[in-house]
Amino acid sequence: MEKYSKLVNKDYRLNKNYRPSNMILIEPKVKGNISANRKIWINKETLKKWNLLVEEAKKENYSFAISSCYRSYSYQEKVLKYYIAKEGITEALKHVAIPGTSEHQTSLAIDYFITRENKNYYDINDTMEEYAWIKNNCYKYGFIIRYPKDKEYITGYIYEPWHLRFVGDIASYLYQNNLTLEEYHKEKIKVKEICR
Ligand SMILES: [Zn+2]
Repeated sequence: MEKYSKLVNKDYRLNKNYRPSNMILIEPKVKGNISANRKIWINKETLKKWNLLVEEAKKENYSFAISSCYRSYSYQEKVLKYYIAKEGITEALKHVAIPGTSEHQTSLAIDYFITRENKNYYDINDTMEEYAWIKNNCYKYGFIIRYPKDKEYITGYIYEPWHLRFVGDIASYLYQNNLTLEEYHKEKIKVKEICR
């Protein structure tokens, strides 16, 4: 469905007032770095499918949880201001998104972490077997690795193995054809032009 495949990046920005509907509030029941009062807003369907993924992963003894999902425009502004004051605008812009360019504002993007023997791992990398599982199975639940390693020049973002994006039904198509969301949208435009 169109609403889940929405493209947000440095070229397609969300405005200040964009606040998604159909969000639900969760409090992750995990120990570790997440404080008990940290609240996470997330798109309802995204949470439903995420929970199914987590259930399936459990069967393999893998444990995943959400560290971040929805981030409002004003929250992003605050973060950017904080880092500009701390390290200057050039450095800040290297790792903080300009408000409106982050798909976390859609509530369809998840930053997840791995829990192994009561320890949480936020810095996900290629050597982790949990990540290999996510990479090969997340599409079954409508998710994609949004910023793959070899496609930085297309997405405009560095490789982020911890960042998943819920895209719904098109996830299988993207996975099987090794496409980013940018490439998918480009393809769609091309098809429209041909059909005209
Ligand atoms: Zn993220």
